[in-house]
Amino acid sequence: MSTCLFCKIVQKVIPAKIIFEDKLTIAFKDINPQAPTHLLVIPKKHMESMETITSQDTNVLGHIILVARNLAQKEGHTKGGYRLIINSGPDAGQSVFHIHLHVLAGRKLTWPPG
Ligand code: AMP
Ligand code: ZN
Repeated sequence: MSTCLFCKIVQKVIPAKIIFEDKLTIAFKDINPQAPTHLLVIPKKHMESMETITSQDTNVLGHIILVARNLAQKEGHTKGGYRLIINSGPDAGQSVFHIHLHVLAGRKLTWPPG
């Protein structure tokens, strides 16, 4: 059994507010939301970070971007917009080492990020 938190969510060993699932991906609500909409879209396959992806992963990574766009639209953010983020490594603040795409929306997001 994997010790990875997000693999456990994929395997439904620990609960999450799952809002979308298909063969390649699963999307769920972030447990500590930083905006009115804060979703995480992840590949079902374990990938640690941007540093470990390979050309084999481009299909699934492209797919999670499309899923993120579709979910942002579904949640009504077509007009207001949204931000997609992948934190990779310690300086970016990555805390879960299973790659995940944050979808943030529903408030004005500042730039540059903190
Ligand atoms: P990062 O800092 O980019 O690695 O993001 C990890 C994200 O996972 C954070 O926004 C956390 O709030 C979120 N998170 C951690 N544990 C859970 C969980 N059990 N269910 C949903 N989101 C989680
Ligand atoms: Zn994992």
